[in-house]
Amino acid sequence: MAGRADAELEARERELEGRYRVLCGSNLNLDLTRGKPSADQLALSDALDGILAGDYAAADGTDTRNYGGLRGIPEARALGAEILGLHPDQVIAAGNSSLTLMYLVVDTALHYGLNGAAWSGETARALCPVPGYDRHFTLTEALGLDMTAVPMTERGPDMDRVEALVASDPAIKCLWCVPKYSNPSGCIYSPDTVRRIARLPARASDGFIVLWDNAYAVHDFDFPPPPLEDLLECAREAGTEDGMVLFGSTSKISFAGAGVGFVAGSPATLDRLEQRMSVMTVGPDKVNQLRHARFLGGRVREQMQAHAARVRPKFEAIERILSGSLGGLDVATWTRPRGGYFVTVDTLPNLASEVVSLAGDAGVKLTPAGATHPGGHDPEDRTIRLAPTFAADDDVAAATEILALCIELASVRTLRRGS
Ligand code: PMP
Repeated sequence: MAGRADAELEARERELEGRYRVLCGSNLNLDLTRGKPSADQLALSDALDGILAGDYAAADGTDTRNYGGLRGIPEARALGAEILGLHPDQVIAAGNSSLTLMYLVVDTALHYGLNGAAWSGETARALCPVPGYDRHFTLTEALGLDMTAVPMTERGPDMDRVEALVASDPAIKCLWCVPKYSNPSGCIYSPDTVRRIARLPARASDGFIVLWDNAYAVHDFDFPPPPLEDLLECAREAGTEDGMVLFGSTSKISFAGAGVGFVAGSPATLDRLEQRMSVMTVGPDKVNQLRHARFLGGRVREQMQAHAARVRPKFEAIERILSGSLGGLDVATWTRPRGGYFVTVDTLPNLASEVVSLAGDAGVKLTPAGATHPGGHDPEDRTIRLAPTFAADDDVAAATEILALCIELASVRTLRRGS
């Protein structure tokens, strides 16, 4: 598009503005901001209600209605292991949120020490691959850590940069990772990236940990699903197991507000976390753990295939519409994830905020530009996160058409200003 004559661009701008004005008068109310399961997806787990039918005994005889059992009941730990591709002994099954467990881990490492001395006494710093998950940034900031952004590639974080940073700056104490269907780019970390991440504690200062948030471990569109290299196994080979902490949950497998969260790691890490948990609680909600184990144990893949049947068409609609409207124009790039919850669209530099604002005025709510970066600031102002799962199929298609129009309109205006 950049090579087009000014008269051609002007004509195109007039045409797009005409279409945009009509849309603005149509009272649309569409929303692609919510990384939540749709009501259809939630309904896939309605059988959780009542599944225990009065039988509250866990496999080891534990009465799940009572206090205790900080690591979770055996079958819930086995479920976490099934989801994360681990052994049940490596997993703690906890409450309803893995994000809470991430807070616990960073708080423990910072103030008490996870497997070694506490980080406090210096300003600790987190490496945050961008684009990334805004709640990781909020959590990190709330605990008083500084953040350094590192770019994502199609294979995961830019490891040359990560390795150079951890080797040169002793204040760097952790790296955030969403290794499969990354939030929001949708990429899967390559085997080489995983192996290099596993070796990081050997290069970094004492107490460095990898925060491996595998929130989308089984959220595939294709079956058999693509593999993810086993981080803990790589770390075992590298002698760095104590520096790896893994997370997952059933939030987007069963009920997003009433699932089970998991944290996994080395024996020393689990001992330490259990100790910290014992200060905060007498035990997790084991009744919900048992419900989940009975409902999902051994049939996670079947459940995820049912999710995929509802989610995949929304991603395919985005791909079809963006390719049809913007393909070949060189005004945007976007990801084509084969799982997870998000698509990332990159506009020309300095246009993401304008596109989000144009779309908002036309009745399409998008995640604020910058949300994918620490401090809510995308220095290039070009990344937009799309979250299509919650909206109805028709709404996803309609919202994407409008997004494409807004991207082209903002781009034509910029190109004309520059020509
Ligand atoms: N991690 C990532 C990468 C996520 O995208 C989300 C949900 N948006 C979470 C964690 C939240 O997980 P939970 O519900 O288990 O706290």
